[in-house]
Amino acid sequence: MKSTRRDFLTTAATAAGAAAATGNFAQADDHEHTHGQAHHHDHQVVPSDMALRVKSLESLLVEKGLVDRAALDTLIDTYEHKIGPRNGAQVVARAWSDPAYKQRLLTDADKAIAELGYGGQQGEHMVVVENTPAVHNMVVCTLCSCYPWPVLGLPPVWYKSAPYRSRSVIDPRGVLREFGLTLSEDVEVRVWDSTAEVRYLVLPERPTGTEGLSEAELMTLVTRDSMVGVAKIPARRKEGVA
Ligand code: FE
Repeated sequence: MKSTRRDFLTTAATAAGAAAATGNFAQADDHEHTHGQAHHHDHQVVPSDMALRVKSLESLLVEKGLVDRAALDTLIDTYEHKIGPRNGAQVVARAWSDPAYKQRLLTDADKAIAELGYGGQQGEHMVVVENTPAVHNMVVCTLCSCYPWPVLGLPPVWYKSAPYRSRSVIDPRGVLREFGLTLSEDVEVRVWDSTAEVRYLVLPERPTGTEGLSEAELMTLVTRDSMVGVAKIPARRKEGVA
C-alpha cells in the first residue's frame, strides 16, 4: 500500500461515488473513454455512444460484405484467449527458468519482452511487478481499461467493469476474495493503476512442484488472471499422487 496506492484513493472516491460498489463485475457496463474525460456514465443502462457506433459500423461492414461476423468473433477470441495470454505466459515461464532474464524483465520490461518478440500497440511502456510470499500485486485501470495487449490480449469484461475499477483500490482484499483468493493479513497488497502511458504485468510466484519442468511446460501453468494479479497459480501435484 503506501506510495504504490498513490492517488488511487482520490480517483476511486470519484469513481465509487458514481458506482454502486456492489460486486458483480460481469454485469457492469463496457464503455471505453479516453483518460481525462468526465466520468459520469458508469451505470448507464443503454449501451454507450461508442458501443453503438461500433455496432453500427460492424453492421454496415457485414451488410456490405466487407467483413464476416464470424471472422470478427474469431479474431477477438484469438486476442482474448489465445495469442495474448500465451505471450505473457511465455514471458513468465522464461523469467522462472532464467534468473538473468528475470532480472532484465524487472529492470527494463519493454526490452526483455521484446527479446521474445512481443511489443507494440498498448504495450509500449511495460512495468513488471513480482509477487513474492510477502507481497501480492494486482493491476487495475481506474479510469477505463488500459491493459497490456501484446502480452495479455484483450481485457476481460470484469477488468473493464466499474465495480472492479473502483473497488480494487478501496478494498483490494475483498475483491481478491471474490475471485477466490484469500490472502493472509501479513501479505502486503500493492495495487497498480494502469494508464495510457504505463501498463503492468504481474510476475506470479512460481508454484511448488514445478522443479525440473521445461519452459514450455511451465508456460501451460500460467493463467491470465495470475498475470493481472487476481489469482495465484496453485501448487502442482505430481501425476499419480492423490
Ligand atoms: Fe485506462
